[in-house]
Amino acid sequence: MVGENYQMLKEMKSYAKENRIPIMEDEGIDFLTTFILKHQIKRVLEVGTAIGYSAIMMALCQPTLKITSIERDEVRYLEALKNVKKFHLEDRITLIFKDALDVKIEGEFDLIFLDAAKSQNINFFQLFSKNLVSDGYIITDNMYFHGLVEKQEREIKTANLRSLVRKIKEYISFLNNNPDFNTIIYRIGDGVAVSEKKK
Ligand code: SAH
Ligand code: MG
Repeated sequence: MVGENYQMLKEMKSYAKENRIPIMEDEGIDFLTTFILKHQIKRVLEVGTAIGYSAIMMALCQPTLKITSIERDEVRYLEALKNVKKFHLEDRITLIFKDALDVKIEGEFDLIFLDAAKSQNINFFQLFSKNLVSDGYIITDNMYFHGLVEKQEREIKTANLRSLVRKIKEYISFLNNNPDFNTIIYRIGDGVAVSEKKK
């Protein structure tokens, strides 16, 4: 079974590579799964399923973990559904095919993982923090955006990228000035922010 999982995970990774789907890097996944175990996380809300790779990795690391994950792209959502079934995780991973900005999520979560459109992170944070338990965490991926966040604006080639980088910087100051959360940004994978709700 373990060997079989390994093979299926390898296949998911190559599918992601071939189709240019930005799944989380190994280092980021290690961080996330270690974090889940260390903080005894039981319920995760993920924004940005893609093909289900990070959701499946989280579920495999903690055998009672429940995950709800939102994806707006139909092809990716369908691929994620297929993958979740392959791993027999449909009881623990609930997939929602919707734009996260249009969905109403019921219930509480110990961890919210933001890994969707980088320009919408402030909106996602504000929208979903009401689903967070009083001692919960929000983790955000891609805080460095492939190193671009630390570059000078003139070094960034296109206007689109410059605007995206500006949005990420806005998000960083939003986090740093948020009175309800303490945030640390780790130099892991593509940059991972951990925001802890203040008690
Ligand atoms: N968490 C995944 C990778 C997600 S990639 C993993 O590591 O395996 C980001 C995904 O977010 C993309 O598939 C994109 O379609 C989705 N996305 C972007 N904006 C979204 C939104 N507003 N609502 C739902 N999904 C969104
Ligand atoms: Mg990411």
